[in-house]
Amino acid sequence: LDDLIAEGLITATGVAGLYGRSGRFEAIVDGLRRRISALPVAAQAEVFHFPPLMSRAVFEDNGYMSSFPHLAGVVATFAGDEREHRALCEDLASGVDWLCRCCSADVVLTPAACYPVYPLVASRGPVPLEGASFDIESFCFRREPSTDPFRLQSFRQKEFVFVGAPEQATARRAAWMAQARDLAADLGLRFSVEPASDAFFGKGGRIAAGRQHEEELKLELLVSIPGRDQPVACMSFNLHQDKFALACGLSGLKGATVHSACAGFGLERLAMALLAMHGADPKAWPAEARRLVG
Ligand code: AMP
Ligand code: ZN
Repeated sequence: LDDLIAEGLITATGVAGLYGRSGRFEAIVDGLRRRISALPVAAQAEVFHFPPLMSRAVFEDNGYMSSFPHLAGVVATFAGDEREHRALCEDLASGVDWLCRCCSADVVLTPAACYPVYPLVASRGPVPLEGASFDIESFCFRREPSTDPFRLQSFRQKEFVFVGAPEQATARRAAWMAQARDLAADLGLRFSVEPASDAFFGKGGRIAAGRQHEEELKLELLVSIPGRDQPVACMSFNLHQDKFALACGLSGLKGATVHSACAGFGLERLAMALLAMHGADPKAWPAEARRLVG
């Protein structure tokens, strides 16, 4: 973290896991974004960038608060009259909690880039035989404050998303993974791909995490970072089975079963992994890594 700040790549905001990013850092992110979108497997995908906020109703339908209440961020806004506003200002001035004078909005902070995609597909009617493919990006929020620069509260995920028949979803994930591995190797990263699980909440969550791990529903591309004991997950490849299809009312033609899958690329993590691997000055990076991120 200190090195990234000293090199002028990111800047502190006073909050752990929340940083401003310099032009040099963003140039790397931009190159990664373009390179990922240029993978052959993204060729037919519809491109969307979503805001850092999403519909609270969709967030509720997807069961985020059941599985990950500790990571969620919701939005509170003030909707009172002038009398209530005076009371809020008095609370503020005297250091009393003023948030209880606000109420929850119909938006929440987006926790994973692909959440807005499923209702979009549902709104179009039955999923076509060939399925639906997306290449998306969103700022994501997860409440995991840390001084580890790889663990941010606000970060960008680029994702490939597929909705279609179960065997198509499985095949698509395999194709994403093969091409993402090649890209990581070409970028000069050292990595392995391993079964993983999401950070489900509580004792009940352990069962869900165990099942996810056992059935290899989540695979992560773990990058070795010089000077660190533990590798860092920079990409994930996920099979959701019918979770989002059921939550969002997705259906296939003639009632065919619909599954979904996504591949998530952490743009800040990938940029930081490259900086850790090849040095703070991209001009001095190996030629192939420089060429790939442009
Ligand atoms: P996930 O949705 O948890 O599979 O995350 C997909 C990718 O997003 C991960 O492989 C990371 O590269 C990135 N990511 C997830 N959580 C964070 C975080 N707290 N800070 C930075 N990047 C993250
Ligand atoms: Zn996703």
